[in-house]
Amino acid sequence: MIDRVRLLDVPKMLILGGTGEAAELVRCLPKNFTPITSWAGRTKAPANLPGEVRIGGFDGADGLKAYLQENRIDVVVDATHPFAARISENAAKACTETGVPRLYFLRSTWEKQPGDEWVFADSLEDAAERVAALGRRPLLTIGRQHLNAFSGLNDVEFLVRVLEKPEAPLPLEVYQTVVGKPPIFLEGEQALFRRHSIDLLITKESGGEATYAKIEAARLEKIPVLMIRRPVPPPGDAVSSVEGALDWLSRLSA
Ligand code: NAP
Repeated sequence: MIDRVRLLDVPKMLILGGTGEAAELVRCLPKNFTPITSWAGRTKAPANLPGEVRIGGFDGADGLKAYLQENRIDVVVDATHPFAARISENAAKACTETGVPRLYFLRSTWEKQPGDEWVFADSLEDAAERVAALGRRPLLTIGRQHLNAFSGLNDVEFLVRVLEKPEAPLPLEVYQTVVGKPPIFLEGEQALFRRHSIDLLITKESGGEATYAKIEAARLEKIPVLMIRRPVPPPGDAVSSVEGALDWLSRLSA
């Protein structure tokens, strides 16, 4: 179980990252914390993160459990993406079995506003079945990993947003790509929608501010949004802001 004296002095904290929120949290931690930020290795870890940065998987829940024990981790903050369900399940299991306190830093969902036309899908496969009824020229912003779900659709021409130029053809029938980070500004998204005659936005229900411009742009351009619901998070304490996380940490060591 957690050693409260050690936690008060120099708590050793594992932050499961891969998100802007993880980087923000580690930069805001009180000086007495010893942070280790973990990145899966699929996306680049930001430069100049305080503390240690480790890259790569743990080899499942048992591997993560062993890591927590071997490295004498006092507390885990899971600040992974809301759709990174496997690592979050593994973290929940490993922390339960070791008694290490765990906080889920889960970014808040988007709130539907007047003018938003959202259609929810329960999974990628469900979304793929709904596409043809909603549009012919969808902007697909789900990342590259899960495009297979949309293969075999001949009567839609996807515009796929990818962070890096694909090295191999994508598993889609008819598509173009737009390479780069999503524009932060509403005007950039609106211009993209217009330039490519986009009539449907397909997105994960990721939430947060970083990619909200596309949701606003769809509202203003009167484009429906096919929204893939988040996986159900594992039970346990959860916050949706850095302030909330810092508050939880301060109560933990009080
Ligand atoms: P996932 O399906 O939940 O995880 C797959 C495997 O990747 C995990 O079992 C684990 O391997 C490893 N892993 C994931 N996050 C890790 C971390 N922070 N540190 C060390 N290992 C990690 O996750 P995913 O959807 O592939 O996402 C991978 C990473 O990209 C996550 O860290 C996530 O925060 C980030 N990300 C995901 C999305 C998204 O849409 N899914 C979007 C933006 C960023 P082992 O089992 O070997 O431990």
